[in-house]
Amino acid sequence: MSTIDAFVARLPKVELHVHLVGSASAETVLELARRHPGSSVPRSLEALRQFYVFRDFPHFAAVYRAVSDLVTEQEDIESLVRGVARDMAAQNVRYAEIQVSPWYFTHGSGIPRAAVTEAIDAGARAALADHGVRIGWIIEFPGDRADRAARATLDHALSAPPAGLVGFGVGGIEQGRVPHTEIIRDAFRAAVAAGLHSIPHAGEMTGPETVWEALNALGAERIGHGINALLDPVLVAYLRERQVPVDVSPTSNVCTRQVASLREHPLPRMLAEGLLVTLNSDDPPMFGTTLSNEYLVAASVLGLSRAQLAELAANAVRASFLDADAKKPLLAEIAEVAAT
Ligand SMILES: [Zn+2]
Repeated sequence: MSTIDAFVARLPKVELHVHLVGSASAETVLELARRHPGSSVPRSLEALRQFYVFRDFPHFAAVYRAVSDLVTEQEDIESLVRGVARDMAAQNVRYAEIQVSPWYFTHGSGIPRAAVTEAIDAGARAALADHGVRIGWIIEFPGDRADRAARATLDHALSAPPAGLVGFGVGGIEQGRVPHTEIIRDAFRAAVAAGLHSIPHAGEMTGPETVWEALNALGAERIGHGINALLDPVLVAYLRERQVPVDVSPTSNVCTRQVASLREHPLPRMLAEGLLVTLNSDDPPMFGTTLSNEYLVAASVLGLSRAQLAELAANAVRASFLDADAKKPLLAEIAEVAAT
C-alpha cells in the first residue's frame, strides 16, 4: 500500500452525500437482477459495467430507476443497507447521512410505507451492530417527478420516519426552473417546520440560480453538489461568509458529464474560495468509485495536500448533523492522523 493509500485508509471518514440504491455493490445488483429477470438490468458483471457507462444525466437517471425497480421486497431494502454499511466499514467510514427515496419502493414496488421504514431501521441497526457504521437518513424525492412524489415523500417522512432521520431532500434531474414549483416549496416548508434539515441537490446541472433558490425558498442548510455556484461571485461570498456546506462528488460530476474531466473539476477552486466543502461518492459503484477513491483522486489528480484531505474529512464531521459529543472524538482522531 502506498503511503497516500495508507493515509486515506487511516482517516476516519464521514460521508454526507450518498444514495442508498446508488451505493448497491455490483454483487447486490446482480443478485437482485437475477431474482427479477424481466428487468432491463443485466445479469452479468461485464454487461453491468457497460450498463453503467452514462451518456448524460437523463441516461444516468433512467439506469438509476431501473436498478431502483429491482427493489420489490422489504428484505431487498434491508440487504441494500447492510451491503452499503459493509462497504463503508471497509473504508473506515464511521458515519453516513444516506439519501433514500422511499417513493420508488412504495409507489413503484407497492411496499407499504411502514414496511419500508421497518426495513430501513433493521438495516441501520445491523450496520451499527455488525460494522460499527452509524447511519442518519435523508429522505428525498426525485425533482423530475415532484408532482407525484413530493407530497407522498413528505408524508412518508412525517408519518413513518426511520430512526435517525435527519433531513429532507430533492434529487434526480434538476428542473432548472426557478422559482421551483409550489409543490416543491411547500414540501420543504412543511419538512423544515417539522424539524427536518433541508438538504437539497442544487447547482449540479443547473446554474447558480438554483442554489439561490435552494437557500432562499427551500431553507437549504447544505447544498448537494453546488459546483456551479462558482459562476456567481455574490453567491460564493454568501456561501463563504455563512459557511454553508457544499457536498461535492468529483467522479460523479465527470460520469454524468457535468464536468469534462477530473483534472478540470472545480474542487480546488472551491477550497481556494474558502468554501466549506465536503467530499463524497454519490453513487459509488455506478461511477466506479468509492469514498476512499475520491480522497485519492483529490490528492493525485487535483493536487490536494494531506492537510487538505484531513481538512475535507474534518469538514464532513462539522457539516454533519451528528451531535457535538459524537463530533468531538472524530475530529480529534482526524487531527491525530493528520499529524503523523
Ligand atoms: Zn446525489
